[in-house]
Amino acid sequence: MLSAPFTVRTPTPRFLATSPGEELWLALRDLYVHGADGLLGGDLFTTTRWAEPSGGLAHFLADVTLSLAVYKIMKAGRRIEVEDGLEGNALHSEEGEELFLLRMRAYLVEYLGISFLDRGGLRLIPDLALRSLKVSRNNIEKTARSLALAETNAEGRLLCYCCGTDMLFRTGGTKSNIPLDHIWPRSLGGVSTESNLLPICDDCNGAKTDRLSWGVFGIVQDYAAATQSQDADLLLSLALRRRAATKLAEEKYVTLKQAFLMLGPAEELTPVDPGEARLFFNLIAHDPGYLSSLW
Ligand SMILES: [Zn+2]
Repeated sequence: MLSAPFTVRTPTPRFLATSPGEELWLALRDLYVHGADGLLGGDLFTTTRWAEPSGGLAHFLADVTLSLAVYKIMKAGRRIEVEDGLEGNALHSEEGEELFLLRMRAYLVEYLGISFLDRGGLRLIPDLALRSLKVSRNNIEKTARSLALAETNAEGRLLCYCCGTDMLFRTGGTKSNIPLDHIWPRSLGGVSTESNLLPICDDCNGAKTDRLSWGVFGIVQDYAAATQSQDADLLLSLALRRRAATKLAEEKYVTLKQAFLMLGPAEELTPVDPGEARLFFNLIAHDPGYLSSLW
């Protein structure tokens, strides 16, 4: 295991967020990249604190860590809701919000090690957690649905944004049967408006569930047991596409949805350059002997 502390000091690229859950992820990433030395303890970021400070592997590890951090915070938020009787409308009252923010701050300090020294994070993160929790309750409204389904491509087709399946062809031309996916998962604070919705086929939707990113995709586990996982190839291609879309969204400063649309559906799985550190998730690299040689 490497012992160097994580000390990246470069400006963190951002994409254009439309959901509070995305803002939460980005805010945590700022803390992770710029505040990891000394300010943060606890178990929020510790899994990757020993990672090398640059390269594809570190980028991947940050992604894993941050996605899991969002999960932890959302889970804590739901627990606070239940324990303090804040479910339903109570969370929308002024007193309910106050109580939630207070409890979430305490939780971040006590369990996640976000130190009191970091005043910015302690204001921002509970607020984003509260907003994420609220939007996660919203269903897709009819108008959002019809707006999202009105966005056909140049040939007038609606494609699954993950694999390119022609959705109108699949449903015999009926738009009402086309499933829409929350690009940023609703359970992680993704909004139910057209800015966060794209058509998805059942196969991709079933494999993806509410997984956000590399870490949650469990790619390593899937490939460690490649023969037992029918979804393994699909999951890997979804993960590769999400990474490519995030990178593009950061480069162009657009939303993830715009980036996915610019990217177009993947026609086939493209393994990454075997010479790169990020071949961690190359099909070729899913060999336990190789993986252990990386550490
Ligand atoms: Zn699909």
